[in-house]
Amino acid sequence: MAREKKVEHYDVVVIGGGPSGLTAAIYAGRARLKTLLIEKALIGGLATYTNEIANYPGFPNEPKGEDITNLMKKQAEHMGVKFKLTDVKTVDFSGEEKIVETFRNKYIAKTVIVSTGGRPRITGAKNEEDFLFDKGISFCATCDAAANTDKHVVVIGSGDAAIEEGMFLTKFASKVTVSVMHDEGIMDCNEIAKEQALANPKMEFVWNTVVESFEGEDHLKTVVLKNVKTGELVPIDCDNCFEFIGYIPNTEIFKGQLDLTNRGYVLTDEKMNTNVPGVFACGDVREKWLKQVATAVGDGAIAGFAAEKFIAETEAFEEQIMQSEKPGLIYVYNAIDESSRKFLSTIEKIEGDFDGSVAVSRIDVYKSDGLAKRLNISTYPSVVITKNGQVETTISDNLTEETIANCFK
Ligand SMILES: Cc1cc2nc3c(=O)[nH]c(=O)nc-3n(C[C@H](O)[C@H](O)[C@H](O)COP(=O)(O)OP(=O)(O)OC[C@H]3O[C@@H](n4cnc5c(N)ncnc54)[C@H](O)[C@@H]3O)c2cc1C
Repeated sequence: MAREKKVEHYDVVVIGGGPSGLTAAIYAGRARLKTLLIEKALIGGLATYTNEIANYPGFPNEPKGEDITNLMKKQAEHMGVKFKLTDVKTVDFSGEEKIVETFRNKYIAKTVIVSTGGRPRITGAKNEEDFLFDKGISFCATCDAAANTDKHVVVIGSGDAAIEEGMFLTKFASKVTVSVMHDEGIMDCNEIAKEQALANPKMEFVWNTVVESFEGEDHLKTVVLKNVKTGELVPIDCDNCFEFIGYIPNTEIFKGQLDLTNRGYVLTDEKMNTNVPGVFACGDVREKWLKQVATAVGDGAIAGFAAEKFIAETEAFEEQIMQSEKPGLIYVYNAIDESSRKFLSTIEKIEGDFDGSVAVSRIDVYKSDGLAKRLNISTYPSVVITKNGQVETTISDNLTEETIANCFK
């Protein structure tokens, strides 16, 4: 018989303990929210795979990735964040309470932050696992180009990322050999990049090839390519190999629950909102332009802050706005709009006339439009009248003292 799962309740559950998840947890913890971070492998995420991070602001001495993320973890612990080292197996975001399940536990959360990152696609060639990351196979030119100054590097792939990153590498490396699986002159990148790459004297192309194996001892020495037409093996001695054959977001468990791009990334707005209210996504897992530690922590800060706002708004919505003790009048306005500000004095007068018989509240959308969205309001100023904890009327056009008073006759 299946064992009953232990149930725990949290304000915020963060799935994924890389830089974005850790930052989101720090923000949520600092806001005194009961926060759990679940990580299936290494706290610190992909950043722990790199021996030096040279471009994270504030750390000029090129620390190891884990040196930075260990500090983030310490800071999160200091903020009261709890950690669980286990794999999230399923999620259910269909209800108001969000459910996150691991093998043994069921977590019920008011909000969930998805920060599961992704993983570089690898070739699957022989010995590849032996040389990953610091042993000669890299996936990030922005991160590792400078370390390859005056060296010979091999690039695998011919898409936009491969060719643009390959050209970037020519600023550092003495030679960049590109393995392309197509016939001579055919690449998957855009035409401009292709023309520039073909004209670049530091770039050399080996057409019709895929990787057969990676060879070396402690560090990669040779990439053995195989001609897909002739079967001929072409060994290329090099100092480093960069694979740019795609990146796979860790979003399998969110399929059918969150809106994803056709490549599997989570779609968010700039406040890290996904399509599900109360579920946020941050870092490399979301559709974005630059995937780096600096951008991951920026996303994480927004997601943690957004989760706090969401919870506060939910409480305000349930306890003050949709209260059922008295009829309610909710004035939804934008503080930077003059007509909105002017009408505030009318609302004050009406409030005085009601003399406590109507619960009057004000929502300033300039600070956050979350509550207005919950009330389905996009025109400001508007007034919402509630009775018995339900919306009865919304007045957006012809908003006058009289139209409001008529609702209470
Ligand atoms: C080799 C390498 C070198 C790099 N060097 C640099 C650099 O020098 N500078 C720089 O700025 N960036 C660098 N990057 C990029 C940087 O590491 C990432 O942009 C950053 O780590 C993204 O952070 P994240 O939190 O969004 O995702 P990740 O770091 O990918 O973290 C996601 C975490 O979620 C966990 N997870 C996934 N699914 C689940 C699940 N179902 N349950 C629980 N946990 C789950 C994963 O185990 C992982 O730990 C490098 C990347 C690589 C691969």
